[in-house]
Amino acid sequence: MKVSVILPGSASIQNKGVCIAVWTSKDLFWIDAGFTSFKALSKAKRDCEKLSGLPLSCCYVSHRHSDHFSDKIAGWLKKLNVAVAEVGQTRSWDLPSVEIWAWTVRHNPTIPTYGFSVAEPISDKVAAFCIEGRPELSGIPSTYTLDFIYIEANHDPDLLLRFPQSDYHSQNAQWHLDNKSCGQFLAKCQPKIAVIGNLSESRNTPALAKMDVERLAGMEVHLATECEPHKKIPKVWEI
Ligand SMILES: [Zn+2]
Repeated sequence: MKVSVILPGSASIQNKGVCIAVWTSKDLFWIDAGFTSFKALSKAKRDCEKLSGLPLSCCYVSHRHSDHFSDKIAGWLKKLNVAVAEVGQTRSWDLPSVEIWAWTVRHNPTIPTYGFSVAEPISDKVAAFCIEGRPELSGIPSTYTLDFIYIEANHDPDLLLRFPQSDYHSQNAQWHLDNKSCGQFLAKCQPKIAVIGNLSESRNTPALAKMDVERLAGMEVHLATECEPHKKIPKVWEI
């Protein structure tokens, strides 16, 4: 199984959305598609298809915030023949080569929000994606064998106190996982590979997030904004 973070959340200057591509030898799918234009979404689809050699079959939806998914984005995906998998809306959930479970994440209480576990039986690998919000360790299937996790490290608690109430992410900080909670969570589940994303622009820095999360997690963590060496394309994580 391979993973590439196409849009890493709020630390991305051009586009604040989230989109993660996951593929096996048989299936390519996205988790979220927070693009701001049809042009950007279709270019990303073409890039992912070229990278994986597979057609993009499906987009799984973590929640309906427009930087992740919306009716407009649903229309763009439909135009490109990409199926949408939303919890409670979708009957066929698994893909031929993977089993996928959704689990509840604590985020904005008015917007149901989900994380996903993806298992590939042929390789016996399990990846988890906690796109935004606060996960419960007990709620994640197969946590004890996690080969990969994508999780947010949204803000630094001290920077949040120093710069309160001046942007969306500080007002809604309680809906997001801070560096400290992210590190403590990783310390409990000890995945083989951990990638952190959705860093607040004003309440975090990549260096601070990496240092604090690594210290508390007791393991190396990677930033979702990492690129392939000497290239501008996002890094591909091999699980
Ligand atoms: Zn959200």
